[in-house]
Amino acid sequence: MSAVLQTRNLVKKFGAFAATNDVTLNIEHGARHALIGPNGAGKTTLINLLTGFLEPTAGEVFLKGYNVTKLAQHQRVKRGLARTFQINRLFADMTVLESVTMAVCERLGFGWNWWRPVGRHVAAIDEAADLLASLRLIDVANEKTRNLAYGKQRLIEIALALAAKPQVLLLDEPAAGVPTGESRELFETIARLPHDVTILLIEHDMDLVFRFADRISVLVNGALLTEDTPEAIASDKRVKEVYLGEAIHG
Ligand code: ADP
Ligand code: MG
Repeated sequence: MSAVLQTRNLVKKFGAFAATNDVTLNIEHGARHALIGPNGAGKTTLINLLTGFLEPTAGEVFLKGYNVTKLAQHQRVKRGLARTFQINRLFADMTVLESVTMAVCERLGFGWNWWRPVGRHVAAIDEAADLLASLRLIDVANEKTRNLAYGKQRLIEIALALAAKPQVLLLDEPAAGVPTGESRELFETIARLPHDVTILLIEHDMDLVFRFADRISVLVNGALLTEDTPEAIASDKRVKEVYLGEAIHG
C-alpha cells in the first residue's frame, strides 16, 4: 500500500460549524477514488483543503509522504497535485492548442510571453498536441475555447490540469452543468486517463461513480462515514440510509 495523498485528522471550521470533521483519508497511488456524500456533506471543502485553497483549522495533508499543510496552492501543483481550472477570459480568446501549450510552458518555467521566440517552444507545442490527441481533442485544437460545447470546455480544463504532469488529479463534479449526451463522452475520456495519474473524483451521479471508482469514501456532515470497494459501498445499509434521507428531505 502506498498512499500518494493523505489527510490526518483534518478539521475545517466556519465559526462553530465543522464543515470538515476529523477526516483521515488515504488515496492509494493509481487509485480511481470517488468521494461521495449528500449535498453540503463537505466534499468541496475537503478538496479545497487538499489543494491549499483553504487552510485547515487542525490536522495535516501529506502529498507523497511530504507534509504540504503549510504550502500554497502553486507549491502543491509543483509537487504533483492538480485540480481542474475554470476557463477564464484570457483562455476563451485563445485556441485550444495555444491554451494547452501555455500551460505546458508554465510547467517548464517559460512564463507568459511564450509566443515570442516560437522556435524555443516547438517541444511544448508538440507536447500540447500529444496531450490533446490523447484526450481526442486534436480536431478542435485550432478552435477558440469559447466556441466549444460546454462538455468539450470541461475536457480542456482537464487537459490544462494534465499539462502540469500531475501525479494526483482532483475532479470536483467535472460534469456539472454538462448536458447528458456530452457528460458520457467526458466520463469515457476521464476513464481512459493513464493509471499513473491518481484520480480523486467528486460526482453525484451514482451510475458514473460506480462505473469509474475502484475505491469510494462516503462523507456525511463533514466526517467520513465509511470507505470501501464499490461492491461493499453498494450494499452498505448506512450509506443507503444517508441517500434515502436526502431523497426524502432534499
Ligand atoms: P458539498 O461540496 O459536499 O456539497 P461543501 O463543502 O460545499 O459541501 O459545504 C459543506 C458545508 O460547509 C455546507 O454546509 C456549506 O454551507 C458550508 N460552507 C462551505 N464553505 C463555507 C464558507 N466559506 N463559509 C461558511 N460555510 C461554508
Ligand atoms: Mg460541492
